[in-house]
Amino acid sequence: THATAHVPNRAAHYDTSLSIPVRKYLQTYGLTPPRVESYEVQKKRCLGQLAQKTTDIEKFLYLSTLRYNNVHLFYRLLTDQFSDLAPLVYTPTVGEACQRWSEIYQQPEGMYLSFEDKGHLSSIIQNWPQTNVEITVVTDGSRILGLGDLGIGGMGISIGKLALYTGCAGIRPEVTLPLTVDLGTSNKTLREDPLYMGSRRDKVTAEEEKDFLDELMRALKERWPDIVIQFEDWKNPFPSLERYRQDYAMFNDDIQGTGAVIMGGIIGAVKQSGVAPRDQRAVFFGSGSAGVGVAKQIVEYFMHEGLTEEEAKSCFWLVDSKGLVTQDRGDKLAEHKIYFSRTDNHGQQFKTLDEVIEYVKPTILMGLSTIGGAFTPEILRKMAAWNERPIIFPLSNPSSKSECTFEEAINYTDGRALFASGSPFQPYAFKDKMYHPGQGNNMYVFPGIGLGTILCKAVQVTQGMIYASGEALPTMITEEEKQLALLYPAITRIRDVSARVALYVIRAAQKDNVDRLHYLREMSDEALEAWIKSKMYDPHRETKELESEVREIVDDLVA
Ligand code: NAP
Ligand code: MN
Repeated sequence: THATAHVPNRAAHYDTSLSIPVRKYLQTYGLTPPRVESYEVQKKRCLGQLAQKTTDIEKFLYLSTLRYNNVHLFYRLLTDQFSDLAPLVYTPTVGEACQRWSEIYQQPEGMYLSFEDKGHLSSIIQNWPQTNVEITVVTDGSRILGLGDLGIGGMGISIGKLALYTGCAGIRPEVTLPLTVDLGTSNKTLREDPLYMGSRRDKVTAEEEKDFLDELMRALKERWPDIVIQFEDWKNPFPSLERYRQDYAMFNDDIQGTGAVIMGGIIGAVKQSGVAPRDQRAVFFGSGSAGVGVAKQIVEYFMHEGLTEEEAKSCFWLVDSKGLVTQDRGDKLAEHKIYFSRTDNHGQQFKTLDEVIEYVKPTILMGLSTIGGAFTPEILRKMAAWNERPIIFPLSNPSSKSECTFEEAINYTDGRALFASGSPFQPYAFKDKMYHPGQGNNMYVFPGIGLGTILCKAVQVTQGMIYASGEALPTMITEEEKQLALLYPAITRIRDVSARVALYVIRAAQKDNVDRLHYLREMSDEALEAWIKSKMYDPHRETKELESEVREIVDDLVA
């Protein structure tokens, strides 16, 4: 009944590296060109075709088609050429793909569930052709990257993110479910676009969304009781996180993943700064889901370092589009900002970032505002004047929205900044010395959070597990990287990093008593990490295993 559905392993049966006897056994002989090829030759052809595409969107589409037709070959390429291909599979290219989704659509690669399907979600979910699903990424497309409400175009994010779960953490591709819920869109241009493939209704209300999600969560767990559910790019992500985090193995990467990955960088930066946590003063420019998520996560780190919650919280000054977030500002603060709102401003209000930093004289300056260039040369110079090692994290994406560039941070702090950004920057030579930027990319943590949760069969993704994912990162920085003041390990070691993150996540799950594979508790860290690695999907092994399995059968038949 699912003859046309995408079955990755079936697609892999057409791999041109399979030998003739294997092709004959699989009855694919004659369906592919005669020559039996090495991976090196396949790779050369793929990269050659990729190079002929002139735009990033064409490259994105080529890679999507390759994943659809030969999933293992796609992942061999992605893991081999991660630094070159990740930007085409995920950000920044995926942003444009989401914007143009209904224009460039080619094939089904996930599930689309509409508000009209309410009452029937459970039976529709039965249509997914894979019997086993271990993880899903779900979005409603309402706030994709920094690009606004893209409706069902959000599917690009679910697919791209799951490709990283596979590429970075070795979660098998066929157990991943990209999921987009079509709850209408507030994007009028889309609703009026004849090519738009979603429903034309306006966004449903928060109440309607909640009812729909309640049904969806139940339906997912009903079919796949162990499923890990990651929420991504929701306009208001806080209510669903609070509502489902107890009863489901779910997390929100925009809030929690971001918090953990930035905390991982801050742990190293605080150590290198020589300033004790209690003496740190952090100004957050931007108080959205990312800003608040990051601030809360660093509060937790400060508490681990011995501060009380009140002491830790008082180290933070959050700024939004109206200025410093204070309780007496005269506007109704959004729910998520109240926790950090200041009460010690003696009626004074600070509108601009410059006013705020003059008032606070921060040791840490975080940018999660989407305002490119907001960290001006003057602001950076002040940070350098007040601090031996100013901690400067311009985290807004893409590069054009980064609050400052790496060059600027180095130039105006005389090379003393402890730096990490959201978008990648090149190393920079300053006064005869090379400086290397850190990138606080969520892909350092979310794949490992997913992997760890799946492997120990955790029933929840606890705050302890999120914390542990960030804590794992500095342990992966090499001595050499430490010498260069790097705050994150090289992205080329991402599979090892994800295994370490998964180890920390599993240990935290055990501590919080939400794991269900109890025999893992008895293993040493070394043994458990090795076990995790043995469970990771290795695309280089897959086709070879198919070859040798079938070869054995064939040889038996001959004998
Ligand atoms: P968001 O929810 O839209 O939050 C943006 C925040 O910036 C809001 O608090 C907003 O103020 C504030 N803001 C906007 N314009 C401002 C201005 N002119 N002056 C001062 N504040 C201003 O977005 P988000 O999801 O938190 O993401 C923010 C940025 O972080 C994005 O660029 C995203 O790419 C980046 N990010 C990076 C990482 C990473 O590096 N790992 C992860 C996640 C997100 P109001 O609250 O008053 O509207
Ligand atoms: Mn996101």
